[in-house]
Amino acid sequence: MAAQETVEHKYVYDFAEGNKDLKDLLGGKGANLAEMTNLGLPVPPGFTITTEACQAYLGTGTEPAGLADQITAHLTALEREMGRRLGDPDDPLLVSVRSGAKFSMPGMMETVLNVGLNDRSVEGLARQAGGSTDQPASGGSTDQAASGGADRFAWDSYRRLIQMFGKTVCDVPGEEFEHALDEAKRAKGTDLDLDLDADDLRGLVDAYKKIFTKHTGREFPQEPREQLDLAVRAVFDSWNAERAVVYRRQERIPADLGTAVNVVAMVFGNRGPDSGTGVAFTRDPASGAQGIYGDYLANAQGEDVVAGIRNTVPLQELERIDKDSYDELLDYMARLERHYRDLCDIEFTIERGKLWMLQTRVGKRTAAAAFVIAGQLVDEGLIDLDEALHRVNGGQLAQLMFPRFQLDHDFQPVATGIGASPGAAVGKVVFTSARAVELAAEGEAVILVRRETNPDDLNGMIAARGILTSRGGKTSHAAVVARGMGKTCVSGADELDIDVPKRRFVVAGRTVTEGDVVSIDGTTGKVYLGEVPVSPSEVVRYFEGELDPASTDDALVKAVHRIMSHADASRRLAVRTNADTAADAARARRFGAEGIGLCRTEHMFLGDRRELVERLILARDPAEREEALAALLPLQRADFVEILREMNGLPVTVRLIDPPLHEFLPPLEQLAVNVAVAQERGEDVAKEEALLAAVRRMHEENPMLGLRGVRLGLVIPGLFAMQVRAITEAAVECTRQGVPACPEIMVPLVGAVQELETVRAEAERIIAEVVGGSDVDVLIGTMIEVPRAALTAGQIAEAAEFFSFGTNDLTQMGWGFSRDDVEGAFFWRYLELGIFGISPFESIDADGIGRLVRIAAEEGRAARPGLKLGVCGEHGGDPDSVHFFHSVGLDYVSCSPFRVPVARLEAGRAAIVTTGSDSR
Ligand code: ADP
Ligand code: MG
Ligand code: MG
Repeated sequence: MAAQETVEHKYVYDFAEGNKDLKDLLGGKGANLAEMTNLGLPVPPGFTITTEACQAYLGTGTEPAGLADQITAHLTALEREMGRRLGDPDDPLLVSVRSGAKFSMPGMMETVLNVGLNDRSVEGLARQAGGSTDQPASGGSTDQAASGGADRFAWDSYRRLIQMFGKTVCDVPGEEFEHALDEAKRAKGTDLDLDLDADDLRGLVDAYKKIFTKHTGREFPQEPREQLDLAVRAVFDSWNAERAVVYRRQERIPADLGTAVNVVAMVFGNRGPDSGTGVAFTRDPASGAQGIYGDYLANAQGEDVVAGIRNTVPLQELERIDKDSYDELLDYMARLERHYRDLCDIEFTIERGKLWMLQTRVGKRTAAAAFVIAGQLVDEGLIDLDEALHRVNGGQLAQLMFPRFQLDHDFQPVATGIGASPGAAVGKVVFTSARAVELAAEGEAVILVRRETNPDDLNGMIAARGILTSRGGKTSHAAVVARGMGKTCVSGADELDIDVPKRRFVVAGRTVTEGDVVSIDGTTGKVYLGEVPVSPSEVVRYFEGELDPASTDDALVKAVHRIMSHADASRRLAVRTNADTAADAARARRFGAEGIGLCRTEHMFLGDRRELVERLILARDPAEREEALAALLPLQRADFVEILREMNGLPVTVRLIDPPLHEFLPPLEQLAVNVAVAQERGEDVAKEEALLAAVRRMHEENPMLGLRGVRLGLVIPGLFAMQVRAITEAAVECTRQGVPACPEIMVPLVGAVQELETVRAEAERIIAEVVGGSDVDVLIGTMIEVPRAALTAGQIAEAAEFFSFGTNDLTQMGWGFSRDDVEGAFFWRYLELGIFGISPFESIDADGIGRLVRIAAEEGRAARPGLKLGVCGEHGGDPDSVHFFHSVGLDYVSCSPFRVPVARLEAGRAAIVTTGSDSR
């Protein structure tokens, strides 16, 4: 028994034991450090504490049994390898403690460098550094101060430890350290950290320690192992920091993944002019072009690059500074890229001429670069087209379709906020909603500028070309509402000092007053003064047929063409468009639409046809009503002929009139005033009074849930019949002229099969009568947009040849909220709380509303095999929703013309399963 040892769970992995596919266990950073180690790249030795250790700790509140011993064992091995002991007073080993979850996550603890320094080992570090450093005889450069001594280096490292440890491990407010540092610089009469010498830094360490003790009630821990253990624990705890929790909820990252912790032997980029630190990309992450991209900062430790304390130099200059390291780095970059088969980004440090690799990962990139790189990698034989299709996504394509600012001139942004809703907007600055409405009514393009918006700003937001706020992020009111409207928005541009009463803001020392022109980029978040010229998207020009992918030398267009062609060849879903006019239909066809999934007929009752609609509504007897309908018939028929002709035999789904009729009448208040004024003048107001009475009669508390859709068709005799006749006659006319026509009549808002049966009986009679002997086939189907329809789809399918899911109404009615009211009122709060990861109007709520779709699809097809299924509404062009509709087995999605390419791309991606990396 004594000989038998229990095999304990393995919580710690040496870098040599891991690999890139172990991200779940080792986190992204740890898995890639292991991968580089195994590739033979020079990674400082270290080990990774697994996410499982973190999960166990978070579950019980204490480190799991065995973890401490395993850390000891790996630390001992590390010490042996380095020939130094952690925090040894004479020659200390120092380590960094780095968080690293599977997904990188804002709000999580970052890195603590220089763990292992204390009052004694700092002297040891200085002695070692001094002993082994060949001090340049005469530096003669600004680097001289920095390299000016091993003492300085050691004390600088120590003060950084107290600062980082205090801030990230013990929650000491970071500003206090910043203040103390500023104080030390002021005392020295400089603004440069590098001018502080060893004695100054010694003093600073004392000040830092006092700050630490004041906030924590204890001395700064001198025991190296205790420093390490506390830092590890702090990384674990940071998994549940509030910001991280909210972020996970929004991104639907499971809450129980936990984070790994990497413990890495320190290498020092701050040892003198022959040391430094930098970042590199294997291709240009902005354009995708091949070449050398990155920044280097001599004589610095990692966080200095990010903090922007000193100016970096372009990576190419490293060739001059240290050619050997440069060549070596380039060699590793090429190897990493071949190995990962993708753009990699890299963090590295050079310590006295020796290159160390500190991090790599598949790098982030712009939308354009994503397409270009995917195309290049296919050319290089590193990936196939299926994988290329998965390396891009519809969100990126959508970004590339917005017009862009032409920044080749000398436009410099004056502020950068958050790109909250994409697009390029130019206009005159206004500060109130009322003023926005006023100027817009005069035909001016305006940008509404607010500290933050609230529901009172809605009208101004509608009137404005773009919205600019100085507060709030991607889930602020401004951001959420703007995205819902498809309007450009930059939020949280906090460099703007906005004074609404004075109608002006100050930025970068300049005052911008009402009426001045600004340009805002909702993709990059950049704000420019003046009018930046806007150029159309090359990608749209390609879709429009203006750019030939075969002859252009635009790398992006070529790549988009190639990947889109593959998406089209791969997808199962057809893509249709929502188009109410022949012009929209024509554009959508150029964008690749294979039919119209939703042709609304409402607009056909507006303009100079309003008068006929009024006559229809006010009709006192059937004869008057029929007269009005008879007058509308030829107008409607002409509309449909135009659209059917444009679509030339592709299916065209026409929705019978849907909104409540009072929407076609003048608003109540306006009528009431008109009547009163006319009465005052003694004019004959019989007609207006009748109209007013009708509007009053039709007034609804909840028009969304009122007399609309099929209900209207059942209540107003002859209305639907007129439309059915117009559609069928138009189809017959087209066919007679040799243009094939394929109309589909769609009945809105059906909740019960009886409604549809009633409409259908009449429609079939009319169709048979009109079609006569000609070769025209008219389908009759329904929208599924009322929850009851989804739940009785089996019955409804008996009377429907197709279903089209109206997911906007289905979302409204399924959740029980009206879009117009809720988006401005509380969605921002729901997003902030993580109740929604994304607005359910932007992307279908697969669990709830999606379930209704699934049920209806299954039960509808069970009742009528081959039932044609589609979706219309903006969800049809939303990437995640397209994947969902693919999985449900719909036949097509339909979306606005501009979204058609996005839907094509995503439908292709949904149809292809790859094992490679995926761009979501
Ligand atoms: P982030 O996730 O924010 O990139 P890292 O863990 O990569 O945080 O650490 C930030 C920087 O700290 C690194 O880029 C590197 O420059 C520096 N760093 C981390 N570990 C070490 C180390 N062992 N030796 C030297 N520098 C390090
Ligand atoms: Mg980080
Ligand atoms: Mg890093």
